[in-house]
Amino acid sequence: MSINIFDLMELARSRPAAITLGLGDPDLPTPAHIVAAAAEAIESGRTGPTPATGLLELREAIARKLSRDNGVEVDPETEVLVTTGGQEALFLLVQALIEPGDEIIVPDPRYTSYDRAISLAGGKMVLVPTHAENNFALDPDEVEKRITPRTKVLLVISPNNPTAGVNPPEVMQRLAEIATKHDLIVVADEIYEKFVYDDAVHVSIASLPGMRSRTITLNGMSKTYAMTGWRIGYLAAPSSFIRAASGLKEMVNIQAPSVSQWASVAALNGPQECVEEMRRTYDERRKMMMGELDRMGISYGHPYGGLYIWANVSSTGLSASEFSYKLLDEENVLVLPGAGFGQGWDDWIRMTILQPEETLREVAERMSKIVEQRVSRVG
Ligand code: PLP
Repeated sequence: MSINIFDLMELARSRPAAITLGLGDPDLPTPAHIVAAAAEAIESGRTGPTPATGLLELREAIARKLSRDNGVEVDPETEVLVTTGGQEALFLLVQALIEPGDEIIVPDPRYTSYDRAISLAGGKMVLVPTHAENNFALDPDEVEKRITPRTKVLLVISPNNPTAGVNPPEVMQRLAEIATKHDLIVVADEIYEKFVYDDAVHVSIASLPGMRSRTITLNGMSKTYAMTGWRIGYLAAPSSFIRAASGLKEMVNIQAPSVSQWASVAALNGPQECVEEMRRTYDERRKMMMGELDRMGISYGHPYGGLYIWANVSSTGLSASEFSYKLLDEENVLVLPGAGFGQGWDDWIRMTILQPEETLREVAERMSKIVEQRVSRVG
């Protein structure tokens, strides 16, 4: 049996009591000082249009953040574009970069919105498998093997969705060397950068020697500040690219929403303890869930970063889509089968850690019931 993830999500929507570990939208509230800044922007009438590239105040806040947190220096006047979420950023960047026939190297499994953007631009996606044995970090040798004269772009998503893998510093260093040697543009999707755990560290590839001029960094507010619905993302890159992407952005929706932009200024310029608090909350949930999966005999790539656990359910004797369907049908819990993140991931499910700890405990209990049926299935 194979059920696709859209059908599964539809089914979950028809069951109001279902616990969903489906979409990657933070369940925690947007911090109060950010909400207050939005209210203040509305009350004082700061709701009018902004430049297509975004409020200068926000681009300045982004440039300061990139310098402070990532060691990346950019000119807020010419090297930053504010977008309507990271999703628009990824769409625009692919359309601005990729010509028909260009090849783009993409880690697999993956956030498949990239697939659709690449196919619309007429690009060719070249997949690099990542493996459980090294917790789904990119293998630079595997990347280099796939470079051809048509390769234009290397996509690096770290921490990764769906695998929760994080590329260690030495991998980032090797990827930077490969990109330089083969004259590639690097797209660094850093949307999960603030959520790294254990001894993992986040390295911005644009901060490595010689990389600033060939890197497009994508980031946004959705994950870091629990602001998915506010729809603010951004791109930081050399000015020629930002000019091209801004032209497209203006065609699509003129500018990102003004009030959300003011809220984002407050998010980036304000106190950052709220982010560390969220990270600690996710970390506790993650550890609890890892313990539960260990107890059930379900293996997973060590989740070093992000908001997901990528788990292998083959020990249950079920495929991931059978497992996901059964879990929803019998126990009212939504997780997503691996097929939603690439072909050949039929043993894997993605579950988020975006529910309170007690809800996740309940999920583990319900999941155990499906796992225990294994005895009757496979003897
Ligand atoms: N990039 C990755 C890897 C994601 O997982 C997501 C959303 O889940 C996005 C970009 C887009 O996020 P948003 O549009 O909420 O900023």
